[in-house]
Amino acid sequence: MTVVNRFAPSPTGMLHVGGARTALFNWLFSRHHGGTFLLRIEDTDRARSTPEAVRVIIEGLRWLGIDWDGEPIFQSTRFARHAEAARALLAEGKAYLCFCTPAELAEMREAARREGRPLRYDGRWRDRDPGEAPPGVQPAIRLKAPTEGETVIDDLVQGEVRIDNRQLDDMVLLRADGTPTYMHSVVVDDHDMAITHVIRGDDHLTNAFRQVQLFNAFGWPLPRFAHIPLIHGADGAKLSKRHGAVSVLDFRAQGYLPEALCNYLLRLGWAHGDDEIISREQAVAWFDLAAVGRSAARFDYAKLTNLNAHYLREAADERLLPMVVERIEATLGRGLAEGDVARLRRGLAGLKLRARTVVELAENALLYVRPRPLPIDDKAARLLAGAEAWATLAAFAEALAGAEDWSEPGLEALARAFAEARGLKLAAVAQPLRAALTGATVSPGIFEVMVVLGRDETVGRIRDRLPEEAGARGGSD
Ligand code: GLU
Repeated sequence: MTVVNRFAPSPTGMLHVGGARTALFNWLFSRHHGGTFLLRIEDTDRARSTPEAVRVIIEGLRWLGIDWDGEPIFQSTRFARHAEAARALLAEGKAYLCFCTPAELAEMREAARREGRPLRYDGRWRDRDPGEAPPGVQPAIRLKAPTEGETVIDDLVQGEVRIDNRQLDDMVLLRADGTPTYMHSVVVDDHDMAITHVIRGDDHLTNAFRQVQLFNAFGWPLPRFAHIPLIHGADGAKLSKRHGAVSVLDFRAQGYLPEALCNYLLRLGWAHGDDEIISREQAVAWFDLAAVGRSAARFDYAKLTNLNAHYLREAADERLLPMVVERIEATLGRGLAEGDVARLRRGLAGLKLRARTVVELAENALLYVRPRPLPIDDKAARLLAGAEAWATLAAFAEALAGAEDWSEPGLEALARAFAEARGLKLAAVAQPLRAALTGATVSPGIFEVMVVLGRDETVGRIRDRLPEEAGARGGSD
């Protein structure tokens, strides 16, 4: 069988991680089987669907690297077809006209509420002659659903699930105002798009029973269903903003890489042995529905962050550079000069080994592009206080001005020789040096910093820290 499947978001808000995981599983399933993967925007709820939500969903999918075949299909453009299908079912006697007035429905709802049971339409127009219709009432079309037996679904994740048909009422397919219901549109679209596999959140499992009844009424073959468990927060409650970011684009804003989020979402509720780091190619090769767990997955931000640190280390500097530049420019409120960008480019290889997110990366990189004189923290300032530190630094600046080998090993050798000649430990040079060059007491390796800064900036930053006379005296002490 050739696989055809779809991701079918309702554009009523952001693309949250649950939706992203559904999209990812669908995408992997399709690519694994060499199938066709469609994007269907379920904008049937005209009041709640917005073009902005469509844009955000598409941007989120693109960012995650989830592509689809052909153009997105907007469900609302297919209303006429949905209405026609409902009328066809009516003509076959598999559906019927229901002339219930809003008041009657309200009464039924009220009775159900009083008796503490869910609302079930009582089927009062199921076998009634439409000739008895009250004047002026527009009818809805309802499915003549089976009243006995069971509806059974052989779900690829949940296994066999069943419902007693008496629990389901005759659902509306076409409302009195002529608009199709969501449940009906989904079935007609899944059929018309020749969908073979419906993979979605298990909050749709109850819908699936109704949809199966409708497929059966039409006499259409059923797709295979796979209802995947929802994502919960660490506390077991349904994942919400209270737990942290939930929108895919918020994860981007917080400095996560798409491959890290995809890898994390894949591992959430799906396993391939003990593998934690799974590349996109491996995921396509390995993905199957059989290994999707049945219980709700818990979202662990710390695990995601660890994975992100891994993917940051793996990422090409040229790819990270624009992300870092963009964030630093936003922080500083101005554009960066070419020299600054060149320095960032040199610094990335070292910086990315120590950051867990792009946000941290940009924060740490700021050190390379801050204008002189650098702000300095208290601890660093203490290391720089006093004539001894000044004398050492002034002499070292002088030595650097003449250094021939401006590489990490070259600079380290120079610093060691310099310290030795003065009877000092390397730390006695390196510590004030770090304070002067970075304004802090923790930083990347100091020789790495010097290579990234270049000679002029290095010597300039040191001299910024020296009082006039010490700076002017240069190498003498
Ligand atoms: N539109 C539904 C949603 O966003 C998905 C329906 C489906 O996949 O069948 O939850």
